[in-house]
Parts: sequence; structure tokens; C-alpha cells
Amino acid sequence: MNLMTHTDLVIVGGGIFGCAIAYYYSKNNPGKNVMLLERNELNNAATSRAAALMTMVRSKRSYIPLTIETFKVAKEMEKELGESLDFKVVGMMHLAASEGTLKDLEELISIASEYDQEAYYITKEDAQKRVPWLKVDEALKIGFVPNEAYCDPYMLGTFFARCAKLRGAEIRQGVEVIGLIHENGTVKGVKTSHGEIIAETVVDAAGVWAPILAMEMGAGLPMAPVRSQYWITERSDIFPVDSPMVLMPDAQAYARPEGGSLLFGIREKKSLVASPKDVPNDITDFVFSKDEGMNDLLENGEKLARFFPEFYDIGIKYYVAGFSGYTPDSQLVLGAVPGIKGFLVASGCCGAGISVAGGVGLGIAEMASGRSNPFDFSEFGISRFGEINPFEQDWLNRCASARSKKLSG
Ligand SMILES: Cc1cc2nc3c(=O)[nH]c(=O)nc-3n(C[C@H](O)[C@H](O)[C@H](O)COP(=O)(O)OP(=O)(O)OC[C@H]3O[C@@H](n4cnc5c(N)ncnc54)[C@H](O)[C@@H]3O)c2cc1C
Repeated sequence: MNLMTHTDLVIVGGGIFGCAIAYYYSKNNPGKNVMLLERNELNNAATSRAAALMTMVRSKRSYIPLTIETFKVAKEMEKELGESLDFKVVGMMHLAASEGTLKDLEELISIASEYDQEAYYITKEDAQKRVPWLKVDEALKIGFVPNEAYCDPYMLGTFFARCAKLRGAEIRQGVEVIGLIHENGTVKGVKTSHGEIIAETVVDAAGVWAPILAMEMGAGLPMAPVRSQYWITERSDIFPVDSPMVLMPDAQAYARPEGGSLLFGIREKKSLVASPKDVPNDITDFVFSKDEGMNDLLENGEKLARFFPEFYDIGIKYYVAGFSGYTPDSQLVLGAVPGIKGFLVASGCCGAGISVAGGVGLGIAEMASGRSNPFDFSEFGISRFGEINPFEQDWLNRCASARSKKLSG
């Protein structure tokens, strides 16, 4: 395989972040060249495993404009390709069953109006009708955000890549980046399994492996690979295909329909974490839990059974797990590394990378083009925790505990 030896932009990693960056860069820079390098297959790591809740209205305001961009670009790509992404716009229900989560819900409804997103309260009767499996007795209030969706994350990532390719992006699978070419604090290209490529800018979008590359420049990316997991039940009439997604913060759980079954996730007390260097390059056959998460499920199932009484009786058909890059403050890791030129980072997705992919792609592509970023990335800065070692156990534990505390999906 012959690779171009000079290009304007090299993107390392063909997950949804890398594909989205390639899309926006090729769209907004006609005449410039971009090369996306993926060592395995596109969108085959975290991206294809996501539950893909496209949560737009969140307590973290910093994510909202990024997700709004994803919804916008999805429509544009559907038009361009003449194909549907088949987003399931079923809406998100938020069930608050304690004073703390009620306060959070009230704040969420007001955040929605700040961003012109529809959100309102619904009655318990209405909620019960829409979601037959849900036990609503303990709810103090139930909020509903009607325009939220879930999607097929692999397809969304692939749409970005296909539209990028139509605009001339060079996308190479089976090419591993093994190092950076740099001089006096400026990154000048990459060394790959198929030769060297000189580039004006390199973007590290290597998912949970991103810290390995950045460390070559002495930059400790503030994130760690933490396992996310969910389960899919057997089919039942109590799971209508078009019923809303449900967030149950009092159980630290979420659920959404999955073709007549229920897909649900619940936070474990202690999340499994690994050093980026210990995550295998190809996770296709990696065994995350020999017991398929059953211990975690039983340990935490009681919380979920409060809202899902059939939990103990319904059969589990599938278990899905994967690594996402978590940070102690549940904010992304995006942008330039202070003191290093020609190098940008797009990682630390905190389990929300499918929803925010549009904004991440556009923001990083604009930075790589030397233009101003249309989004505010100030909360996502690489050095916000000072100097850290992303391979050290205390740091890894700090990132894992951020996921264990997460209340929503
Ligand atoms: C179980 C689970 C459930 C989730 N649920 C949701 C959800 O409901 N909503 C949501 O928004 N998000 C969710 N996520 C998170 C979402 O999947 C991630 O945020 C997103 O996929 C991150 O994309 P990425 O491009 O950063 O990483 P990845 O998809 O992991 O892509 C990184 C790519 O880089 C490649 N790579 C690494 N190193 C190199 C190298 N040296 N050379 C070449 N290629 C390299 C890898 O092979 C990989 O393909 C979930 C994740 C998991 C695991």
C-alpha cells in the first residue's frame, strides 16, 4: 500500500472522533489534504459498542452545543448521501425520586430552555402509558425531553467517513501510527507501519490509546480507559419499540428500547480501569468480564428493581462492554497541548462521544485549519489537572471513580 508522504492533516484513529474531524476538515478546506489512519477497521473500537443515547439536555452545559451540532450534521449527511441514519427520536424521560435528583431535574428543565430545547413535566399516568415496564410510584416528578434520540453509532461514524471520502479525504485502514516525528517541540508528522508521513498538523484521536502517543511529547493526557457495560434483555411486550429512553438517577441507571427488548446500564460500585498501555490494540475478542458483568448486575440490581420490578424475572440475552476514556471531572480532553506546536488532541469522551461527535469534529477541524473554534472548549483543556502521569495507578483510580459516581446515561 502506498501512502502519500506529505499532507496537511494526519488524524490518528478512525473512531467517531477521527471520522468526524476528517469530515469537517475536508468540507471546510477545499484544496487541502487530510489523511485518516486507523490500525484496525473504522469505528470498530468504542464507537461500535456504544448504547448511543444522544443526550442533548444535560447538566453539563459544555456538551450541549456539541450535541446540537451532531443532530444538525446528521441531517446534512443524510441529505448528501440520500440515505437515512434512522435516528430513533423517542425522547428522554427523567425520573426523579429523591430531593437531590428532583433539584437536578428542575435545573435540567431550565437548562433546556436556555438552549431552546423542548422539555416539560409529564404525569405518572402518562409516563406509565409510554413506558409499561417502569414503576413510577416513587417518582416525585418526571421530566420529558421529546426530541432526544438514540442511534446506530457505527452507522453515524461511517457516514462521517463516507462524506469525508467524497470530499477527497484519504482514509487508510490497517495502518498503525507507531510514533511522532518532531523537532524542538513541533510535531512534523507520524511514523507508521507503512512509512513516514510529513504533515502540518497531527490530531491524536486514538480513543483510550491517545495518551500513549501524546506521552512521546511529554504530555500526560488527563484520562483513563474505564469499562462501560450494558445488558439487553429478552424480548417482551412490556418493551414497546418506540417507547422513550429513561434516566433513573436514583438508581444510577439508564434504559432504552432495543427492537422489542430493553437495553439498560447501571453503574457499578467500582469501575474497572486499565492503563492505556494494557488495553490490547484490537479489542474485538477482549474479555471484559468473565461473568459478563453478572456480579455487578446483582450487586446493583436492587437499585434498578425499584423502578423495573420485572428485573429479577426477565432473561438477559446480551452483554456489551467496552473502554471509554474517563476524566475526574467528566469533561472531554480536547485541543492543543500547551508548548507543543502542530499537535491537537480529541479524546477523553467520558462515555458521551457519540452525542458530542459533531461538535468535537467541527471544533478540532477548525483549530487544525488555523481558524477560531466556534465552540467553547475552555473546560476541556489538556493541562487542567496540572502535570499528571496517565499510566500511574492512583490516577487511573481517580478517573474510574468519576464513572462510578455518574448519575445519568
Ligand atoms: C459500552 C459503551 C456504551 C457507551 N454508550 C454511549 C452512549 O450511550 N452515548 C454516547 O454518546 N457515547 C457512548 N459511549 C462512548 C462512545 O462509544 C465513545 O465516546 C466514542 O466511541 C469515542 O470515539 P473515539 O473515536 O474517541 O474512540 P474509538 O471509537 O475507540 O476510536 C479510536 C480508534 O483509534 C484507533 N487507534 C488507536 N491507536 C492507534 C494508532 N496508534 N494508530 C492507528 N489507529 C489507532 C483504534 O483502533 C480505534 O479504532 C459508550 C461506550 C461504551 C464502551
